[in-house]
Amino acid sequence: MEDVRIGAYVCECGGNISGVVKVDDLVEFVADLPGVVVARSQGYMCSGSGQEMIQTDIQHHDLNRVVVASCTPRMHEPTFQRALEEVGLNRYFFEMANIREHVSWVVEDGRKATQKAYRLIRAAVARVALHAPLEARQEPVTEAALVVGGGIAGIQSALAIADMGYQVYLVEREPSIGGRMAQLNKTFPTLDCST
Ligand SMILES: Cc1cc2nc3c(=O)[nH]c(=O)nc-3n(C[C@H](O)[C@H](O)[C@H](O)COP(=O)(O)OP(=O)(O)OC[C@H]3O[C@@H](n4cnc5c(N)ncnc54)[C@H](O)[C@@H]3O)c2cc1C
Repeated sequence: MEDVRIGAYVCECGGNISGVVKVDDLVEFVADLPGVVVARSQGYMCSGSGQEMIQTDIQHHDLNRVVVASCTPRMHEPTFQRALEEVGLNRYFFEMANIREHVSWVVEDGRKATQKAYRLIRAAVARVALHAPLEARQEPVTEAALVVGGGIAGIQSALAIADMGYQVYLVEREPSIGGRMAQLNKTFPTLDCST
C-alpha cells in the first residue's frame, strides 16, 4: 500500500465552530492520528488563504490525502476538491467532517462538542486513507422518468417533468389514479370537490 500522507485542517468558521469547539485542542489530537503529516486550523478554511494553505502544504509536505473539518459538504466540498485538483491531486483523495451543523450548532457543552468533533475527524482520517483516485466520465442516459404512485403528488410530479419536455411513465397499482384525494368529495380549506 502506498505511503499515506494526510493533511488535516480544522475550520473555525469565524467563531461558528471555535465559539463552542476547542479548536487548538482538536488540532493537537488530530496531529497524532495515523497518517496525519500536517494538522492546522484557520479562521475560514474555505477562503482564498485557507485554500492556499492546503495547496502549499500539499506541495511542500508531499500530501496525498486531505481532510477538512468544517461545515456541511453540501456547501464547500466542491471548493476544496477544486483546490486539490489545481495542484494535481485527485479530487477524491478528500474527505470532509461536518463539525458545524453536526457539532457546534447542536452541542452546547464545549467539552462534549470537542470530543464529538474529534471522533468525526478521526473517522474522516481513517476513511480518506482508503480512498482511491476516481475519474469522472460521461455516460448516455435515457431521458425519461418513472413516477411510482398516481396520487396528487405523483400526478403533479409527472406533469412537471412532462412540462420540461421529458417522457414520463406514471405507474399506479390501483385501477385508477387520484390516490387518497380521489376518495374525498370535499376538501379543506375551499370545500371544493377534489377531482
Ligand atoms: C380522511 C382524510 C381527509 C383529508 N382531507 C384533506 C383535505 O380536506 N384537504 C387536503 O388538502 N388534504 C386532505 N387530506 C390529505 C390528502 O388527501 C393527502 O395529503 C394527499 O392525498 C396525499 O397525496 P399523495 O399523492 O402524496 O399520496 P396518496 O394520495 O396516498 O397517493 C399515493 C398513490 O400511490 C399509489 N401507490 C402506492 N404504492 C405504490 C406502488 N408500490 N406502486 C404503484 N402505486 C403505488 C397508491 O395506490 C396511491 O394512488 C386528507 C387525507 C385523509 C386521509
